Amino acid sequence: MSASAAFEQYVCEACNYIYDEALGDIDSGLPPGTRMQDIPDDWFCPVCGVSKSDFRKITPIAKRQANPATHTRSSEKKGVVILGGGNAGWCAIEALRAHGYEGSITLVSACNGGRYSKPQLSGLQSLGGLGALKGYTQAQDAAKALDVRLLCNTWALQVSRNTKRILTSRGSLAYEHLILALGASPRMPAFKGEGNERLHVLNDLKQYIEFNDILNVVKKTAWEQDRSTHVAIVGAGLVGCELANDFVNAGLEVSLIDQAALPLAARLAKDQAIALKLSLQGIGVRFIGESRVSHISSWQDHGVAIEMELEHGLIDAVKADIAIACMGIVPRLRLAESMGLQTNRGIVVNNTTLMAAEHVFALGDCVEINGQISATLEPINRQANCIASQIVGKPIAYEHRDTVWVVKTPCCPLVIRAAAKQ
Ligand SMILES: Cc1cc2nc3c(=O)[nH]c(=O)nc-3n(C[C@H](O)[C@H](O)[C@H](O)COP(=O)(O)OP(=O)(O)OC[C@H]3O[C@@H](n4cnc5c(N)ncnc54)[C@H](O)[C@@H]3O)c2cc1C
Repeated sequence: MSASAAFEQYVCEACNYIYDEALGDIDSGLPPGTRMQDIPDDWFCPVCGVSKSDFRKITPIAKRQANPATHTRSSEKKGVVILGGGNAGWCAIEALRAHGYEGSITLVSACNGGRYSKPQLSGLQSLGGLGALKGYTQAQDAAKALDVRLLCNTWALQVSRNTKRILTSRGSLAYEHLILALGASPRMPAFKGEGNERLHVLNDLKQYIEFNDILNVVKKTAWEQDRSTHVAIVGAGLVGCELANDFVNAGLEVSLIDQAALPLAARLAKDQAIALKLSLQGIGVRFIGESRVSHISSWQDHGVAIEMELEHGLIDAVKADIAIACMGIVPRLRLAESMGLQTNRGIVVNNTTLMAAEHVFALGDCVEINGQISATLEPINRQANCIASQIVGKPIAYEHRDTVWVVKTPCCPLVIRAAAKQ
C-alpha cells in the first residue's frame, strides 16, 4: 500500500467502535496514520476487548449504517456508565431517562443483566420451582427499551478517577458520570471439612438455578428410594427463615441451623423471635439453635448429601441431601477501594447526594449510609431518583430512612424496623 493511499476506517462488529487509521488509537499506542495491516494481531478493541479479526472495513454503505454515537474516540460520547446490572443498576437507568437524560448510558455487568425481582427467589419452591419466576426480562430487551449500550458478562476491573476511564474485561471505556451499583456477595461459608464446598449460597438467580438443578437431582433420588428430601439451611436470618418456610411448604424436610437460640435473633425482639420459632416448628421445620457448625463432610456417592457436625456442648449431626448457607451478604468493595473511595461496611456515600467522589455515585446493596447497609429494595428507587436528578442538574436530596424488612414467612409474617429491637 502506498503511503498516500486514503486512510480507511474499520468497525468493531461487537461494539461498533470505529478504528480510524487517520486518527490511530493513542491509548493503545497507535499513532495517527497507523494502518490496520500494521497493527499487531494481538491488539484488541479498546472499547469491548474483542480481537483485531473482529474488525470489518467500512464501505461507504456501512459507514452510513454505523451508529455515530459510538464512532471514534474523538467523538466518543462519554455519558453515564453504570457498573452492575441488578435492581440498582436498572433503577438508575430508568430514573435517568425519567429525568429526561438524553445522553449515552452504558451498563457494564458481570452477570447477564437480566431483570427480575430477587425477593421471589426465597418463595419459588412452594410455587412449583424455577418456572414460577415472574417478570423476567432479558437484558437486551430492557436495554433496547431504555436506549442503553449493554456490556454484559463483563467485569469492571479498574477505574481511573483521573482519566475517568474504566478498564473492563472487554476493553476500556470513558465516563462523564459513574454509578456504582455493584451489590453484595453472599458471605461464603468456610467450615472445616471437604463438604464445605458442597454448600450452596443464594444471592442471585444464577446461584438459585445451580441450587435448583441439584435439588431436582436429589429429589429424584429420594423419590426413587421412597423417602423425603432433606434440606439443611445454615443460618436462620431473613433469607434462611424464608427458605425454610418455602421448602417445607414444597414438601421438603428442613433443618434450620443457627448459633443463636432463636431465628432472626439479631433483628427481632425476643417475643417475636420466639413466635417465629414456634411457627416454623409448627409447620415442620426442625430448628436447631445454639449450634455452631464445626465440620462438614461429604455424604453419599453423588456429592449431593452433606453431613454436619454441630456443637452446643454435645456433638450433634445432621445428614441432608443438599445444604445451603444463608449467612448474610458482604457489599462488594474491592473496586471502590482500588479507586481510593472511602469504604467501611459498604461504600461510604454522602447521605444527601449519594456521591462517593466527584462524578461518582453509588446505590443499592453496595452502599453504606449513616453507617447502615440496607440490603433491601425500598431505598433503591429513591436513591436512583436522587442520583439521576443530580446528573441532569436539578438536584433532589436523598432522605435516609431506617430500613424496614418484610419477613416473607407465611407461617408468621413479620415486619422489622431497623430501630425497633428492644
Ligand atoms: C433470596 C432473597 C430475598 C430477598 N427478599 C427481599 C425482600 O423481600 N424485600 C427486599 O426489599 N429485599 C429483598 N432482598 C434484597 C434485595 O433483593 C436486594 O437489596 C437488591 O436486589 C439489591 O440490588 P443491587 O442491584 O444493589 O445488587 P445486586 O442484585 O447484587 O446486583 C449487583 C450487580 O453488580 C454486578 N457486579 C458485581 N461486581 C461487578 C463488577 N466488578 N463489574 C461489573 N458488574 C459487577 C453483578 O453482576 C450484579 O449485576 C432479597 C434478596 C435475596 C437474595
